[in-house]
Amino acid sequence: MLRNIVKIVRLQKANFATATAPAPHTNPEILYTGLFINNEWVKSSDGKTFKTENPAIGEVIADVQQAGKTDVDIAVKAANDAFKLGSPWRRMDASERGYLLNRLADLVERDRTYLASLETFDNGKPYTAAYYGDVAAVIKNLRYYAGWADKNHGHVLPADGKYFTYTRHEPVGVCGQIIPWNFPLLMAAWKLGPALATGNCVVMKPAEQTPLTALYLAQLVKEAGFPPGVVNMLPGFGDAGAALVDHPDVNKIAFTGSTEVGKLIQRGAADSIKRITLELGGKSPNIIFGDVDLPKAVEAAHMALFYNMGQCCCAARFIHEDAPHHSSANVRVLSIDSEQQTKILSLIESGKKQGAALAAGGSRAGDRGYFVQPTVFANVKDDMDIAKTEIFGPVQQILKFSSIEEVVQRANRSEYGLAAAIFSKDLDRVNYLTQAIRAGTIWVNDYNVFANQVPFGGYKQSGIGRENGPYGLANYTEVKAVVVKLTDKNS
Ligand code: NAP
Ligand code: MG
Repeated sequence: MLRNIVKIVRLQKANFATATAPAPHTNPEILYTGLFINNEWVKSSDGKTFKTENPAIGEVIADVQQAGKTDVDIAVKAANDAFKLGSPWRRMDASERGYLLNRLADLVERDRTYLASLETFDNGKPYTAAYYGDVAAVIKNLRYYAGWADKNHGHVLPADGKYFTYTRHEPVGVCGQIIPWNFPLLMAAWKLGPALATGNCVVMKPAEQTPLTALYLAQLVKEAGFPPGVVNMLPGFGDAGAALVDHPDVNKIAFTGSTEVGKLIQRGAADSIKRITLELGGKSPNIIFGDVDLPKAVEAAHMALFYNMGQCCCAARFIHEDAPHHSSANVRVLSIDSEQQTKILSLIESGKKQGAALAAGGSRAGDRGYFVQPTVFANVKDDMDIAKTEIFGPVQQILKFSSIEEVVQRANRSEYGLAAAIFSKDLDRVNYLTQAIRAGTIWVNDYNVFANQVPFGGYKQSGIGRENGPYGLANYTEVKAVVVKLTDKNS
């Protein structure tokens, strides 16, 4: 089994390596490092900048302008001006908004090689993963929401006949969008697509570790022809995110990131009852019964954790009834920054100390850049830190269960509820578990299957609201009821 899994990981790498992606830009030129406000590139008001690193080599690759509170004020004003009734954006035919989103998708497609190279450079993920995974998904997502732009509308309601009653789906207004570093460009697209399709204006703050692809995307927004102020991009730190949350003229916050920061955002938004959607952390159970093709299920369990180097909000614990308990790999897997590497290594140490059986990996890989060995712990118990904490790195935890009731109880005990998977051929058991497990997504006999049409988001402390599909649009509109008194005759 051990050898089998090693082969799987290599095979996946080989597929990426031998696929026909154009050669990457080995040293992609970094063209945009400013703040993007009103379709212009400007410097931060207080002159502050910060450095972004390539985590594969641990070296600084660019100095980026750092947005502070004053810059947030300026960008929010630009977005509010663009949102004023009668502005070009508000007057625009909804189909034209769809055209602009499609045009943006065209430009991402035109620059796909460059964008994938830049993502690799700034985030550290393999180029082929960025090219075939992230950037391909960005293009599809923008096109999906382009199609929705002129199809999301209200209804005429058969209420009291003395009135003409209808609903309007109006944009919420100015949306502050705050995104993480694990899928930098893709998370930007997931946020922009539904917000722009429904006619909102945006001030986005990318993660401080990975600002570069979002900044380049902002330039493409301008090239696509979006009016000034509709999309503003503010690289910076958590204080810039908090300033967006506190701002009285921001109507909604859409956030993807940790549960810890999600709680701060929910508290911060309370004063003004801002609309919020939160896509937060997870600790997802992947439950494997003994009646399936075990080698295949173990492979799936492996990728359910190691996909994107384990830096995935729905990365799964492997909970088995009767599976061979070793899943390991000896390829080098990227971590993302030194802080994250330190956090992962300390959780690995806690696993060793608390008595989990280390089956593979267990330490830093190499001495350049921020790598962690793919690590597998067997015999993990529910009360160990590695079983409870979101690790967000390449550390598999393997747990055992003995009855369905027990596994439901243990899976639901988690404070998270983002995703889960069930591997079984028994239909009754599968149907029971898909109801019993409290999570926003349940995969059956597979893992990490995403589509633009399918909602994604969390129960419990994994978040509020859903992204993707029409559910994702609902979060970007206010429903207004209009009731017009009719006269009996034309007077
Ligand atoms: P994070 O630390 O919560 O940061 C996310 C974003 O919030 C960053 O842009 C960050 O700025 C900003 N931020 C930090 N403090 C803030 C504050 N007080 N107010 C407003 N904004 C603030 O998360 P991360 O470490 O980047 O990302 C990893 C987490 O994201 C994991 O927990 C993962 O599960 C979650 N995630 C969830 C999903 C999902 O769909 N559910 C998808 C991907 C990731 P800085 O860049 O300065 O820190
Ligand atoms: Mg970086």
